[in-house]
Amino acid sequence: MRYSGFRLIKEALTGHTGWTPVWRDASPQPRYDIVIIGGGGHGLATAYYLAKEFGQKRIAVLEKAWVGGGNVGRNTTIIRSNYLLDGNEPFYEFSLKLWEGLEQDLNYNAMISQRGILNLIHSDAQRDAFIRRGNAMILNGADAELLSVAQIRALYPFLNFDNARFPIKGGLAQHRAGTARHDAVAWGYARGADSCGVDIIQNCEVTGFRIEDGQCRGVETTRGFIAADKVGCAVAGSSGRLMAKAEMRLPIESHVLQAFVSEGLKPVMPGVITFGARHFYCIQSDKGGLVFGGDIDGYNSYAQRGNLDMVEDICEAGMALMPALGRARLLRMWGGIVDMSMDGSPIIDRTHIDGLYFNGGWCYGGFKATPASGYAFAHLLATDSPHPTAAAYRFDRFERAE
Ligand SMILES: Cc1cc2nc3c(=O)[nH]c(=O)nc-3n(C[C@H](O)[C@H](O)[C@H](O)COP(=O)(O)OP(=O)(O)OC[C@H]3O[C@@H](n4cnc5c(N)ncnc54)[C@H](O)[C@@H]3O)c2cc1C
Repeated sequence: MRYSGFRLIKEALTGHTGWTPVWRDASPQPRYDIVIIGGGGHGLATAYYLAKEFGQKRIAVLEKAWVGGGNVGRNTTIIRSNYLLDGNEPFYEFSLKLWEGLEQDLNYNAMISQRGILNLIHSDAQRDAFIRRGNAMILNGADAELLSVAQIRALYPFLNFDNARFPIKGGLAQHRAGTARHDAVAWGYARGADSCGVDIIQNCEVTGFRIEDGQCRGVETTRGFIAADKVGCAVAGSSGRLMAKAEMRLPIESHVLQAFVSEGLKPVMPGVITFGARHFYCIQSDKGGLVFGGDIDGYNSYAQRGNLDMVEDICEAGMALMPALGRARLLRMWGGIVDMSMDGSPIIDRTHIDGLYFNGGWCYGGFKATPASGYAFAHLLATDSPHPTAAAYRFDRFERAE
């Protein structure tokens, strides 16, 4: 079913009886050409691009719980491509370009809002570093602009500009950055993949791999064995646990990352801001709540709930930057499991086992990467060669200490 204004009016006039499920509830088949493990943003996007862009058939996505229940539905929704390094910037800029056309491509409203991001500057050395980063972004085809204190005052008059320890001295803006409704991204990709014939199988946990003579023949699941020519793993925070079943030890640790939402307020924040002196960032959701977050809890865990010392740390940083935050009541907070790689960059690569492929190590920032990650992983699975923008995301960089 195609969504349109005409369809909305027709359904409104006929009692909303014509809507069909957004995707089919598929049952597992005995064999697929390609099985993707993980029904988060990355797994679903991979399946979508495999079918749509690379002409692959007989694809399944296996999700142990429900679509959108992992980090794709738990993050703070920020999308951007303000990276410094050559290995990263082209990949995240490719992702931002895919975001810019995503709603039309998927025919789905993911509430993508290019309201801009502003990284605040608090020292002269930091200004030098951000100018360098802005220049690197522009050289890679992204947009970047250095804002003066006066320009920032006009946008965010309530910030603590004259804080004795962390005075605001300017900011690096990326105007094309912004936010997207996180779970709608999962639903949109699920719908798109389903309409290309992909089986999305929920409540189907992968419990092991069948590996014979160095070749992955398929996966053991809670709903029986499923044979596959190729298996792609995209389970984010569960990467270590899953790949241990193939006797692989990854350069990845899993940590809790928390997010917070205040009560709804009138519009005060035009875009995303990040504090340059502490790990704190904030946006205002379309419902009015201030959405904010900061650092990981700092110890390895697979729990999807955080601890109070980090709540205090993040709220303290928030109060230093915008003291008025202390007047707002906290409405909700939650945690997700992030897959922290040892160099802060992801991995999209083949493994040493034929037919077994890996996507993970997304750290704090895999949501913005969802379209490019799916595209690049699909490219790898379909062609056995890395996508040009993801060529740096290989396992062997850890052996070479690059
Ligand atoms: C609080 C928080 C805030 C964040 N904020 C941002 C942000 O603002 N911007 C940004 O870019 N990134 C952000 N991130 C990071 C981002 O959310 C993740 O990097 C990204 O969502 C991970 O990819 P995914 O969507 O595929 O993961 P997930 O949605 O976690 O998908 C993985 C799926 O695999 C399934 N799975 C696990 N094990 C198995 C198994 N054995 N069998 C079958 N299925 C399995 C899980 O159930 C899960 O649904 C944030 C993360 C958190 C926790």
